[in-house]
Amino acid sequence: MSNEILVFAEHQGMKLTRPTWEALAAGQRLGGELAAPVAAILLGHGISALAAELAAVELQEVLQVDSPLLAEYTADGYTHTLREVIRDRQPRFVVFSHTYQVRDFAPTLAAALDRALVSDCLSYREEGGRLVFVRQVFQGKYCADVEFVGDPPYLVSFQASAFREDSVRRGPAPAKVTSVPTTLSPGAIRTKPGERFRETKQAVDLSQAEIIVAVGRGIKASENLELVQKLAEALGAEVGASRPICDNGWLPMDRQIGSSGQTVAPKLYIGLGVSGAVQHQVGMKGSRTVVAVNKDKEAPIFELATYGIVGDLFEIVPPLIEEIKKIKAG
Ligand SMILES: Cc1cc2nc3c(=O)[nH]c(=O)nc-3n(C[C@H](O)[C@H](O)[C@H](O)COP(=O)(O)OP(=O)(O)OC[C@H]3O[C@@H](n4cnc5c(N)ncnc54)[C@H](O)[C@@H]3O)c2cc1C
Repeated sequence: MSNEILVFAEHQGMKLTRPTWEALAAGQRLGGELAAPVAAILLGHGISALAAELAAVELQEVLQVDSPLLAEYTADGYTHTLREVIRDRQPRFVVFSHTYQVRDFAPTLAAALDRALVSDCLSYREEGGRLVFVRQVFQGKYCADVEFVGDPPYLVSFQASAFREDSVRRGPAPAKVTSVPTTLSPGAIRTKPGERFRETKQAVDLSQAEIIVAVGRGIKASENLELVQKLAEALGAEVGASRPICDNGWLPMDRQIGSSGQTVAPKLYIGLGVSGAVQHQVGMKGSRTVVAVNKDKEAPIFELATYGIVGDLFEIVPPLIEEIKKIKAG
């Protein structure tokens, strides 16, 4: 067994995804605390440019497995290949971001390695020389402390924005890129990827938005949504919503933020008439700056808010839009 931290690097359309940077941030943090070398593992076909991009990160090594059979993601292909790499290198931790892809193959991978996967963690802490991982249970109502028992490798996935992508350290010199062979054969792949799933034709990916104006039941009626749209336009923001707004059909379901909607991590989240129920919080608490406007000073959203405005959104938002327009006009 080595002391290595191995970080899984995901890509889509020949681009490293944002969760990959978050996983690298988690890996570097673990590596720093455990005084362990950190490596990244990349699977695909024709991925040398991505490997070079990863090599700019402060890493011991970038491992790339290049095979035409990995040109498209399949759970079988990824499980087979990662199992080989992990068996060979025997890292102490394998770190993932908790993406749809990782959810698809990581449990099988853990079972194939006869190891545990602690999934969807929010954070971890060191306690008496042991690492304790924190994950939510019961729709985010409680947090559970989880520790690995038995022998490594330990597989762990972190929730979106548990770590900040911009905290990834660049290396002083490019890391070594090593090509790793695989014994993957066409017969090992039992599925053929279909088209990528998009919820609706106009589905928005709120997880990538830098600014979100989220609207809740405080908006009272669908015709008042225009006010929210105007604020979003002035800020160059996406509009998000609490569940009742989408359940009412006032906004499409792909705008919903929360445990049964999207998980977002914008630089700025503005909640208008959103109470901040736990199921909503689960989806937005990774936001860097939270501004909340609510009539009720006891509303739970204020527990998360960086800036809280106790007041009527119908009085607060129109002058806010005017001020933003003035600033933009210079
Ligand atoms: C299994 C399950 C899954 C769920 N998943 C989600 C989810 O993914 N996302 C989600 O959002 N919810 C989800 N919910 C619902 C969640 O529990 C809450 O009911 C919901 O988030 C409340 O939405 P809200 O804040 O818009 O409405 P409310 O809780 O009704 O809050 C409205 C707020 O507006 C304020 N307000 C009223 N008028 C004004 C005004 N003029 N100016 C300023 N403030 C005003 C009020 O003070 C109040 O705080 C889920 C529930 C369950 C059971």
